[in-house]
Amino acid sequence: RIVYLNGEYIPEEEAKVSVFDRGFVMGDAVYEVTSVLGGKILEFEGHMNRLGRSLAELEMSCDLTRDEWIEIHRELVKRNDLDEGMIYLQVSRGNAGDRDFHYPPEGTPPTVVLYTQSKPNLADDPKAKQGIKVISLPDLRWHRRDIKTVQLLYPSMAKMAAEKAGKNDAWFVEDGFVTEGSSNNVYIVKGNKIITRHLSHDILHGITRASLLKYAAESQMEIEERPFTIEEAQGADEAFFTSASAFVMPVVEIDGEAVGEGAVGPVAMRLREIYLDESRKAAI
Ligand code: PMP
Repeated sequence: RIVYLNGEYIPEEEAKVSVFDRGFVMGDAVYEVTSVLGGKILEFEGHMNRLGRSLAELEMSCDLTRDEWIEIHRELVKRNDLDEGMIYLQVSRGNAGDRDFHYPPEGTPPTVVLYTQSKPNLADDPKAKQGIKVISLPDLRWHRRDIKTVQLLYPSMAKMAAEKAGKNDAWFVEDGFVTEGSSNNVYIVKGNKIITRHLSHDILHGITRASLLKYAAESQMEIEERPFTIEEAQGADEAFFTSASAFVMPVVEIDGEAVGEGAVGPVAMRLREIYLDESRKAAI
C-alpha cells in the first residue's frame, strides 16, 4: 500500500513517525474517515469542513488547502487502485521534541498522514440486511465529543465489551439519555418520525447525519432532534445508526430487547438506499 506522509507518497513500510510525535504521546491529533465507492470520494466537503473545525477548536494549524486535500485523496485512490473502501486522514500537532504538556512553538509542522483501506463489500454489507445488536454503556468520554480527536480508547473498550457480550456495538448513555454510538450517530423511528439527539458538545456532528436528515426531510419524513432513553428506543418501531463507513445501519436489538419486530424495518432500509444513491451521485 502507498500511503501519504507529510507531502510524500511512500510504501507503508517506509512511513515512519517520530516517537516524540504528540499524536503518539498525547493523543494530540484529529482525524477524518471518508468512504470511497466506485473510486469516488463521498461527502468530501463535509469531512473537510469538520476537519477545519476540529483543527480550529484545538488551535492546531495545517496549511493544506481544500484543493490539495482532494488531490491527496484522489492520488491515494489512484495509486492504490481503490474501488471501494475508506480513506483515513490524521493531523497531529507534530514532533514537539522533549515531552511537554504545552503546545510546541508556532510554526512546528503538523504530522499529516493519509492511507486507504480496501473494503470490497462496503456498500453491500450483509449486516445491513440482518441488522445489528447493541448493548448500552455509560458514556465515560470527555465532554468535547464534537471535536474528532484520536482519543478512541473508550470507544475501543466499548466495542470489546459488546463483542464479549456476543453483540455488535455499544450505545452510550449519559444522565439517562442516549448520546451516540461508539462510532456513530443514533436514531429511532416512530411512525413517520425520525428522532435523533440534537447537536451540541455531547456528540460528534456526523457528516452522514447531516446528509441523512436532509434526504429524510426531502422524502417527507418528520424529524425531531431531541434526546431519547434506551427504554424509548426499545419501544420504538425501528432504530438505526449512521456513520461514514457504515452509511445507514439498522439496529434490531438493544440490551437483549428486540426493537419493533426485531428485524430490519422499512424506514431504515429505505433511508439506506436513498443515502447510498444520493451520496454516490454527489461523490467526486
Ligand atoms: N459519532 C462518533 C463518536 C463517531 O466516531 C462517528 C464516526 N466517525 C460518528 C458519530 C459518525 O460521524 P460521520 O457520519 O461523520 O462518520
